[in-house]
Amino acid sequence: MKKADKLHMQKMVEFGCVVCRWYEGVDDLPPCNIHHIRDKTGLGMKDEEMIPLCHYHHQGRMGIHTIGKKMWEERYGTQRELHKRLQEELCK
Ligand SMILES: [Zn+2]
Ligand SMILES: [Zn+2]
Repeated sequence: MKKADKLHMQKMVEFGCVVCRWYEGVDDLPPCNIHHIRDKTGLGMKDEEMIPLCHYHHQGRMGIHTIGKKMWEERYGTQRELHKRLQEELCK
């Protein structure tokens, strides 16, 4: 992994779960997991295809992998939208 990518990923992890931050109004977030927007995992992943999510919103009770992409996106917005907003906030 390139150094710049690593740094960017670190920034996302430190940003915290986007759902908790934007929907639950939590400011002081612990470092979180990285969710890959594409279902495929493996090599060739680009950082623009990731968003940070806490366990609860990732694989927990309200997790995208638990309730399904469709239901999750109806509640919190599409992953693309969340990702776009995240990039804007990270670049401030
Ligand atoms: Zn969360
Ligand atoms: Zn995931």
